Amino acid sequence: MPELPEVEVTRRSFADRIDGATVISVRLGAPLRWPLGRAPRWIVGCRVGRAQRRGKYIWLPLWRDDGPAGGLLMHLGMSGSLAFGAQAGEPGRHDHFDLATSRGTLRLTDPRRFGAVLWSPALDAPPAAPLLARLGAEPFDDTLTPERFHAALKRRRCSVKAALLAGDIIVGAGNIYACEALFDAAIDPRTRCDRISRARAARLLDSVRRTLAQALELGGSTLRDFRDAHGVDGAYQAHARVYGRAGLACARCAATVRRVVQGQRATFYCPGCQKR
Ligand SMILES: [Zn+2]
Repeated sequence: MPELPEVEVTRRSFADRIDGATVISVRLGAPLRWPLGRAPRWIVGCRVGRAQRRGKYIWLPLWRDDGPAGGLLMHLGMSGSLAFGAQAGEPGRHDHFDLATSRGTLRLTDPRRFGAVLWSPALDAPPAAPLLARLGAEPFDDTLTPERFHAALKRRRCSVKAALLAGDIIVGAGNIYACEALFDAAIDPRTRCDRISRARAARLLDSVRRTLAQALELGGSTLRDFRDAHGVDGAYQAHARVYGRAGLACARCAATVRRVVQGQRATFYCPGCQKR
């Protein structure tokens, strides 16, 4: 599943190039998670603005001569990838959305079709607004201070891993990154949120940020064209210290890394390094 770093690397791969392009045509393939919500011909002729990201959503603003014309809210779902290129070629059977512009074609490839492209009149209006309403702070948003992060954890009784995955305090810590950040912060993933001290909360926030920054750096350094954006999370996994390493020795303390299931998701942790 594409996680936040992969979505951000994808956004960076085309944001500059598509900015200012004019929409020439829109092609819809098989139905995605939600219908587009606007006739494709209405979008033709719009000018595309600079792509933004909120959580795992990409927002592509549209303009007409007389002003803003809403935008397209995109999500990669479980298996989607977005590619932007001058030579898109004929669409394949998993290519379900093409936005052909004067500068190239933005194409969504999504075998499982849980992804979405949705027109919305604005980011803060339906249908975009309700989808974004429950998202927590962006990971690099300075207004999420250690104090606020700690206070938010204090209000929960679930495990700290579940709270990270829920994404309503801070977005971006999907399964790989949550496991790695908790290892980095030396916190047992099963620890109840309301039992985490202020000092450990501050350390965890720092670890989440550091983990995601590493993934972005890795994604950015391997990025040549859009094809490389797909696979950032996989590339990061090769650097993981606990994720996917059950039964192997911890590189820090040599204890055996364990795998447990929390909320139907696999959690990897080191019982030597990570404490409740
Ligand atoms: Zn260890």
